[in-house]
Amino acid sequence: MDYRRSPRSAICAGINYYPHLMVNQLINSQSSTWNIPLLKQLFESAEVTRITGITIATGYKPDTCGWMFTKTGRYTVKSGYSVLQDFPDEEVPLVFGPDVRRLQAHAWKVKCTTKLQHFLWQIITGCLSVGARLSSRGIRVDPLCVRCGMGDETINHMLFECPPARQAWALSPIPTPPCFPTGALFSNMAHLFWSLPEADDMMIYPWLLWFIWKARNYKVFSNDDHDPREVLESAITEARAWASAQTVLNQSGSFRQTTPRSRYRVNGVKLMGRGRRQNVVQGLVDCAELVKMVAKPEDWPAFEALLEEVEKCKRKFHVFSLTHIPRTKNTKADKLARSARDQPYDVYYVNSIPPVTLPVP
Ligand SMILES: [Zn+2]
Repeated sequence: MDYRRSPRSAICAGINYYPHLMVNQLINSQSSTWNIPLLKQLFESAEVTRITGITIATGYKPDTCGWMFTKTGRYTVKSGYSVLQDFPDEEVPLVFGPDVRRLQAHAWKVKCTTKLQHFLWQIITGCLSVGARLSSRGIRVDPLCVRCGMGDETINHMLFECPPARQAWALSPIPTPPCFPTGALFSNMAHLFWSLPEADDMMIYPWLLWFIWKARNYKVFSNDDHDPREVLESAITEARAWASAQTVLNQSGSFRQTTPRSRYRVNGVKLMGRGRRQNVVQGLVDCAELVKMVAKPEDWPAFEALLEEVEKCKRKFHVFSLTHIPRTKNTKADKLARSARDQPYDVYYVNSIPPVTLPVP
């Protein structure tokens, strides 16, 4: 499933006389198979091939609404926002004045934690409770900057122009003069988003913004002064810790999706059965997301049909567990699964040793 692509209606062969046709009417509920003659009657042959490639859940299922723009199939505000950016509705009224939607959209693409992406979005949309913002909303606070007293505490002043903030930027590896920082918040953010050279050092800026904001809060709420060098060091430490954590995660990530049928392929699954009826199954997989799916299928509606099958299989065993192990500890099974995936056959590997039931301990 390419979740960036918009779902579309199937292309009909000729005129569709059934405007209220539901998906479940295209399925033989008894056998849980597609009604091929009806599909051929209604849709073009290429569409029939695509449709029949979709897995059907067993038993009758009424139609429900789905959200195809996340991996899980569950709606999130972020994905809704992203869809609005990618598929703008022509009926949306024109925006007058500076259009910051591109900046807002980019906030969610910056390589940093979700918390910091949200913080970047708050900066651009003016959702930080600095003196000038609170005062403009009728809250009785002094709009002057607590740290320097040189002007109103706007978001731009607090993050870029206040002397301690300016000092932190000057000490950082991020190139500053002549165009940064300026008195304009949006151009400062645009500079950080799109004008920095390609280097790992540059990626610290979300953390630097965050620790400048924290230093401001320490001053406002505890009258505690934080040295700009300390602020910069905290930003660098956190940014590096996050970057190294991403490397570890990418090494252990082990699934990929295919089209037209969306399915997870798991590298290296080790199953152990024991007992007279093999009623204990312990699975070890190196795909952390598969473990989450099986543990909480309701959070992954996009895989509902497949996860229902998993649930049915689970019920056949008295004990079933699926545990995540790093791929580095599962290299043999991973190698086997990878070689199998490259083969164009249905049966990839048959062990020459017959299966042996382990004795009950
Ligand atoms: Zn100030």
